[in-house]
Amino acid sequence: MSARAVARFAPSTTGPAHPGTLLAGLLCWLDARARGAEVWLRFEDLDPQRCRPEYLDAMREALEWLGLDWDGEERQSDGGAAHEDVLEALARRDLLYPCSCSRARLAREAVRAPDGSARYPGTCRARRLPSEAEGGWRGCSEALRLRLPSGRIDLRDESGADLSEDPAEAHGDPVVRRRDGAIAYHLASVVDDRRIGVTRIVRGRDLAPSSAVQVAIGRLLAYPEPSYRHHLLLLEERGGKLAKFHGAVGFDALREHYRGPDLCGLLAHACGLSAAPVPRVPQDLVPEFAWAKIRQEDRCLAWDGQALRLGD
Ligand SMILES: [Zn+2]
Repeated sequence: MSARAVARFAPSTTGPAHPGTLLAGLLCWLDARARGAEVWLRFEDLDPQRCRPEYLDAMREALEWLGLDWDGEERQSDGGAAHEDVLEALARRDLLYPCSCSRARLAREAVRAPDGSARYPGTCRARRLPSEAEGGWRGCSEALRLRLPSGRIDLRDESGADLSEDPAEAHGDPVVRRRDGAIAYHLASVVDDRRIGVTRIVRGRDLAPSSAVQVAIGRLLAYPEPSYRHHLLLLEERGGKLAKFHGAVGFDALREHYRGPDLCGLLAHACGLSAAPVPRVPQDLVPEFAWAKIRQEDRCLAWDGQALRLGD
């Protein structure tokens, strides 16, 4: 008997779906369906400044329009009790500490981490949480960081990319609860994957550089480790440089010019799965899906106001 295999697609609800989001959803879904795994839709909606409920509904609608279906749906904001339990457990192990460093200070003092964020230099590492009498970690009005043990994480993703590093050295201690009370991305992601029993993570390669941090957090919590695969991104030209495709066109404009199967066919062609951009529905792509057919290199895409134009 084989163990339950579970994948998840986890878009953030900080804006409308765009072709890059839809390609990521399609690849994650195809990978899961082709191996008979469950695939869940998880909305990453924890950032109170940037996430909006209308984006969440629009994202669900866009994915459905493309032809994707899910074995379950959850929102990270539903996981509050589980997130708090984990923070409590980490606090008991003396692994949390308050950090009052401002962004400006970190930008000034820090070097860049591999994912482009500022490496935390450990300025507040020796500080202690408020005592139990003062409310413990809950009574702390500053950001909380996790004391990450040093040590190399050996991690190779399924595409062959070597993501090994010492996260404590490369990134420094991550924030796990923000000053505004929101649980930070890495911890929430790891805890929520565990909650639904995720065994496999398929996502864009922009998220690859922080994988070792998430593995380190998972090990600290003695969670089983998922396998990882990172895939190509769609890029657009912005300010004379190539950047992850994002702002050029959102779902509303896409829907005016494409039907779901037209866009699905275009995306399947863009990533190398189909020889021509002919209309397809995701279900029909399952039998022919194989990572060996999916191109490794990122692909340029442009929106001319009417249609998407594929570049190299
Ligand atoms: Zn600090």
